[in-house]
Amino acid sequence: MDKFMEQLYGIMPAAAIITGTESLRVYECDALSAYRVIPGCVVLPDSISEVQAILRLCHAEKIPIVARGAGTGLSGGALPVADGIILGLAKFNRIISVDPLLRAAKVQPGVRNLSVSEAAAAYDLFYAPDPSSQIACTIGGNIAENSGGVHCLKYGLTVHNILALKIVTMEGELLDIGSEALDAAGYDLLALLTGSEGMLGVVVEATLRLLPKPVARQILLAAFDRVEDAGNAVAAIIAAGIIPAGLEMMDNAGIRAVEAYIQAGYPVDAAAVLLCEIDGVPEEVLSEGQQVERILLDAGAAEVRMARDQAEGDRFWAGRKAAFPAVGRIAADYYCMDGTIPRKHIAHVLREIDELSREYGLGVVNVFHAGDGNLHPLILYDVAKPGELEKAEEFGGRILETCVAYGGTITGEHGVGIEKIGQMCVQFNRVELTQFHAIKEAFDPAGLLNPGKAVPTLRRCAEFGAMHVHGGRLPFPELDRF
Ligand SMILES: Cc1cc2nc3c(=O)[nH]c(=O)nc-3n(C[C@H](O)[C@H](O)[C@H](O)COP(=O)(O)OP(=O)(O)OC[C@H]3O[C@@H](n4cnc5c(N)ncnc54)[C@H](O)[C@@H]3O)c2cc1C
Repeated sequence: MDKFMEQLYGIMPAAAIITGTESLRVYECDALSAYRVIPGCVVLPDSISEVQAILRLCHAEKIPIVARGAGTGLSGGALPVADGIILGLAKFNRIISVDPLLRAAKVQPGVRNLSVSEAAAAYDLFYAPDPSSQIACTIGGNIAENSGGVHCLKYGLTVHNILALKIVTMEGELLDIGSEALDAAGYDLLALLTGSEGMLGVVVEATLRLLPKPVARQILLAAFDRVEDAGNAVAAIIAAGIIPAGLEMMDNAGIRAVEAYIQAGYPVDAAAVLLCEIDGVPEEVLSEGQQVERILLDAGAAEVRMARDQAEGDRFWAGRKAAFPAVGRIAADYYCMDGTIPRKHIAHVLREIDELSREYGLGVVNVFHAGDGNLHPLILYDVAKPGELEKAEEFGGRILETCVAYGGTITGEHGVGIEKIGQMCVQFNRVELTQFHAIKEAFDPAGLLNPGKAVPTLRRCAEFGAMHVHGGRLPFPELDRF
């Protein structure tokens, strides 16, 4: 590391290099703060050529490197490697251009998600993927995690809203992938890089698709006495051929936490609320709004409220967007899981989570993107109580494995990182994981870019499988494959 540091000071100004334990502590974790590692140093480049020079040096000296946006990731993706470096992209914060004719914005990777829509608003355009963390998280982090948000049900995830990327490889080469045209020839590297969790290359520029802002929208809030009815209502809305702009669900614990925090006007006695946003032209919004209201009532809603104006609709959404911080107020710590299931199983899986909550003696708050079947159980625990973190982790793992058992996946939008690396062994078999390793090797044969994340080694899976099978706790046949 000493020789490396000497060379680093040769290519970067000293003011762009952070050292010293106290200063490095700022970078020791992302929003999965249960895991912390102090990096060897942090480098803050502000040009593509600097990123290239840093990666070339790391490659030559075999120094592991982890890219970092805002550090809001929930799966430990930006967790540093000890004796490795953090490549902080905070200075890459410029919106290079907004092109209303192409309906695209060219941005640097450290640009905050929300500021893209703010810049596009002058042209009545917006950037659709809207994670709840959008005031802080960056476009680079969104691309690496293939982030979603409440409007992704209708408008797609990050991968559906990117036209082109500039990437720097581990060897310091600059690649242009994707195209501003409708299609690009060759393998779809754009899709491959999106969601690759900073393990294949560093995004240094992105061209994002912008959409026209809908002229009208209607937001409905439905209260249910039974969580199962709310789950079934979600499936019924989609089955009726309606794709709402957003369709979100929250259970009673979530409703109470939100009301105590920001008074969004949710009915505190309801077992669950559904928030449904319809957007489009006024006639479409009116007719679909009425149709959804009927479906909700038929599904057993005790009450359906149509927001009377924009302010009330914004208040309904503000409750949903503030749900995580609201839960942060009622528990010493929470562990946010992120699994996806086919919509038709929402009610069953919520029931199983409830049973697991009793088995582990830890509370759970469910706040999630119901339309996508993307669950976010927040497991409440207290890290100060010996053994509670481990219990919460085990409980979280069981939830993800339940999602797989119901035909779902272990991640919806937060990525695998270090958090779900064991459950990758449940989701994928040996051949599939071997293909993932082959892709990693094609981009980064020395394994220096964000090592140890997202794709488990086969040995790790063998240990994970043996552990679970011998414990007799997880009867998934997939585990026998290792
Ligand atoms: C309160 C809260 C609410 C959230 N809500 C949502 C939500 O609704 N939907 C959702 O999808 N997520 C949500 N998240 C998770 C998180 O905000 C997203 O994963 C986000 O995309 C991370 O962006 P970031 O800039 O903070 O990235 P970081 O946490 O800094 O990094 C995340 C990953 O991206 C990689 N990375 C970062 N920049 C680059 C780059 N330029 N090139 C290559 N790799 C890079 C890192 O190495 C790491 O693997 C939420 C988080 C919080 C704390």
